Amino acid sequence: MISGRVSLLLLSAGLLAIPAIAQVQSAPKAKPRVIVLGVNGMELDIIRPLLLKGQMPNLARVIDKGAYGKLRTVSAPNCPRVYSTVFTSTDPGEHGVTGFIVGGITANTNMLKEEPIWSMLSKGGITVGMANVPATFPVMPVNGYMISGMLTRGKNCEDGVLCAPKLSEVMGGDAVYPRSLKDELLKNVGDFYIDCERMPAAADLKGHEAEMIDKWLARVQVIREQQTKLFDYLLTEHRTDFTFLVQSCEDRTGHWLYPIAPYNVGYNPGINSVRQDAFPNQYIAFDKVLGTVLKHVDANTYLFIISDHGIKPLREFEEKDPHAHMDHEKTTPVIAKHDFADGDDVPGSFFAMGPGIKNDFRLMGLGASVYDIAPTILRLYGLDQPKQMHGRVLTEIFDSSENKAAARK
Ligand SMILES: [Zn+2]
Repeated sequence: MISGRVSLLLLSAGLLAIPAIAQVQSAPKAKPRVIVLGVNGMELDIIRPLLLKGQMPNLARVIDKGAYGKLRTVSAPNCPRVYSTVFTSTDPGEHGVTGFIVGGITANTNMLKEEPIWSMLSKGGITVGMANVPATFPVMPVNGYMISGMLTRGKNCEDGVLCAPKLSEVMGGDAVYPRSLKDELLKNVGDFYIDCERMPAAADLKGHEAEMIDKWLARVQVIREQQTKLFDYLLTEHRTDFTFLVQSCEDRTGHWLYPIAPYNVGYNPGINSVRQDAFPNQYIAFDKVLGTVLKHVDANTYLFIISDHGIKPLREFEEKDPHAHMDHEKTTPVIAKHDFADGDDVPGSFFAMGPGIKNDFRLMGLGASVYDIAPTILRLYGLDQPKQMHGRVLTEIFDSSENKAAARK
């Protein structure tokens, strides 16, 4: 009698009493917690020596406890193109976000023609939190929160391409869902830059190389510290079942400060001999961000670290490559890039640890791809892979008892 009255009161107060009771009755298993940490253009050639020197202790820990390897990417890879494949497990031609600019317009979420994983998870009752993920502007409603990333438009960054508006200066759409979260973030995290700083123009660099490089790198570090604070705040105050966070300054640094030798295409001693440590330092700094994220990872959490592509020095055939300098061409002269016609020239990377994931397991070759991320995450939540997805569940990273359980589903 009393409980009946309580239910009525809850209903009259507009609270969702019925689903709550139904949940208790069916006693569902606790939903797995999954954190995906994306790094734009993490290059294994650069991080391997850092791992050996002990300069990336947190990533070394993840490798020791998990599975890792190269991640096959799409052709002519760049962030919006690859991340949209990660979201949907479909080809760029199918999901529609084929690059930074599509049909003369900055790529945006309204162009996405295939259903992204955040929508599928939300519909499945899984709480979703996303921050700074490329090509998520304007943000879309999810069962949780979403803060946009690369391609967010705003003051001093009108086209949204390779620049960084501040949260308070975003224009042309919402950067935060739900809207109420924006004021909360401004109050508790501060007014952060949503993406990485634009690279200095060649003319600005001329004659002031060392000074401009140091100034730019200092700004990159400020942005990274803001992002770390944001990630830490969200993981603490807005815990979600599925969380997807991305960093993007590493790639930008690699494009123009890749540590190359004098005989490489594009070598300019004025720039490329000044801070040879700049690009490797990005990953040492990233490792500290990973350390902050790891504080929120317990034995029951799955952690995936993914990179959408790698980055390599320009090649001697650049002039004839149809994709030559498609990315970042209007800024500093680049000496490294990722949009090679053959995506296998610049594979991304993949690291995973969590319940049932093999320890110190190396994925050989290019057997795992960016298409496989969404199906693998859906499987962890017991959701069926929709027909349009081309990827597969990465069953080989799980120990055999987990594989059998997965096969029975
Ligand atoms: Zn890039």
